[in-house]
Amino acid sequence: MSDNFNPCVSCGACCAHFRVSFYWAEADDAGGGVPADLTEPLNLLMRNMRGTNARTPRCVALQGEVGQCVSCGIYEQRPTPCREFAMSGENGVGNEACDRARAKYGLPPLFFSSNPPLTESYVSLGASPASDHVQSPDL
Ligand code: SF4
Ligand code: SF4
Repeated sequence: MSDNFNPCVSCGACCAHFRVSFYWAEADDAGGGVPADLTEPLNLLMRNMRGTNARTPRCVALQGEVGQCVSCGIYEQRPTPCREFAMSGENGVGNEACDRARAKYGLPPLFFSSNPPLTESYVSLGASPASDHVQSPDL
C-alpha cells in the first residue's frame, strides 16, 4: 500500500504495554532530545517515559486510541527504545514483543514465519518509511 500502509498508525499497542526506559542523558535537560518533563526517574541511570511504568501503561506522548488511530507526540524526539523497536515482519523478521503487545489489545500478529516478508515494512507512529519503535523491559 501507499503511505496509508503503516500498521503502527492504527496500532500503538507497544506504547501502551511496555515500560519505555532509557539512559537518563537522552532527556533534554541533560543534552538529549527527549522532553524531560515527559519522563520520570527510574533509577540512578535510567528514566522512563511517564505513564509507561504504571500498572496499566500508556506513554504520556501517545495520542489517539490504541488499535484505532495513533501518533507519537514527540516523534522526532522519541527515545532510543522507541527508535529501535521493530514492527513484527519488518525486513522479514518477526518481533514477538510486537505481537504480544498487539495481542493485549485484541490485534492479530503482523507476521508469521511462513509468511513472505512484508514488502512495505516501516514502523513508528506517524512516520514515513523507517524502522523503529518502542520497547524496553516488559512490566
Ligand atoms: S511496533 Fe508493533 S506493537 Fe508497536 S505500534 Fe507498530 S505494530 Fe503496534
Ligand atoms: S513512540 Fe512516542 S508515544 Fe510511543 S512510547 Fe515512544 S515516546 Fe511514547
